[in-house]
Amino acid sequence: MKRCTKCILPETFPGIKFNDEGVCNFCTSFKGVEHMEVKKQEYRQRFESLLHEYKGKGTYDALMCYSGGKDSTYTLAILKEEYGLDVLALTIDNGFLPGQTTENINNVVGNLAIDHLLLKPRFDILKKIFRECSENSIYPPKTLERASTICTSCMGIVKFSALRLSLEKNIPFIAFGWSPGQAPITSSIMKNNPQMIKMMQRGVFDPLHKIVGDEIRPYFLEASHFTSSYSFPYNISPLAFLEYDETVIFDRIGQLGWEPPKDTDANSTNCLLNSFANKVHKKQFGFHPYAFEMAKLVREGYVEREVALEKITSIEDKTIVELVEKKLEEQ
Ligand SMILES: [Zn+2]
Repeated sequence: MKRCTKCILPETFPGIKFNDEGVCNFCTSFKGVEHMEVKKQEYRQRFESLLHEYKGKGTYDALMCYSGGKDSTYTLAILKEEYGLDVLALTIDNGFLPGQTTENINNVVGNLAIDHLLLKPRFDILKKIFRECSENSIYPPKTLERASTICTSCMGIVKFSALRLSLEKNIPFIAFGWSPGQAPITSSIMKNNPQMIKMMQRGVFDPLHKIVGDEIRPYFLEASHFTSSYSFPYNISPLAFLEYDETVIFDRIGQLGWEPPKDTDANSTNCLLNSFANKVHKKQFGFHPYAFEMAKLVREGYVEREVALEKITSIEDKTIVELVEKKLEEQ
């Protein structure tokens, strides 16, 4: 398969074009690492001035969407230890958390002395959703350029559950552990706007509602959340503007009792469903759902091209995929 000679994007990626040297349009329009550094500095300052403004004003300073993966674990540590924030960690268990991840989460929140909420949605509901997503891509193709249908559904539940909780508990920030490959710097600090949220929620809620009906409502905002009695939080993705170095990350979280799970795939350190979701996505669209993210990390100098290439071309572990299929088929 033809791939960009600079990053790793394949010819099957939507909207891709190559120049005579085989370099893709995403790479040729990239403004360079120095430009990124200036932007990062700018966002870091903005982040710090927002903290100054909001710290100590809500029930907690920040609600961390805590998957138990390496990036969200690292973000949680930074928020608590470097910035001294009072953080509430929220984990959504989609039924596919590896045992090691549960252990990691318990170690980390214990060692950091952080309040932790675990939300485990009914598996009969999730199963119906995941099954449907493995057969039909229920979202517009544009939505699925950077994540699989399954991941998009799961993340929708996470994002809107977190937003609902942050409104009800009056928490000014929702933190995500997105890597610089996943979060564009320009959206790393975003004030949630009720009108925009209403529209975005419809994009996820409606397709899921079609599959499972009203059972999906507790994970999303109700009409009452859009009244003026609630103030909408900022979404922050600190890893987009802070240091991002895998060696530093593994070292730091290792000290908090975090160990890599052995039974996940190369692209995820916290979800067994991921391998299956990736496999389905490649079949549906002809490119790996992590291709865009990994390409961005290569382009911006965070990851070696070879390492990224290996991650997105590795074949899914058959045992894990079969385990997931079996769990989704069970009555
Ligand atoms: Zn490229």
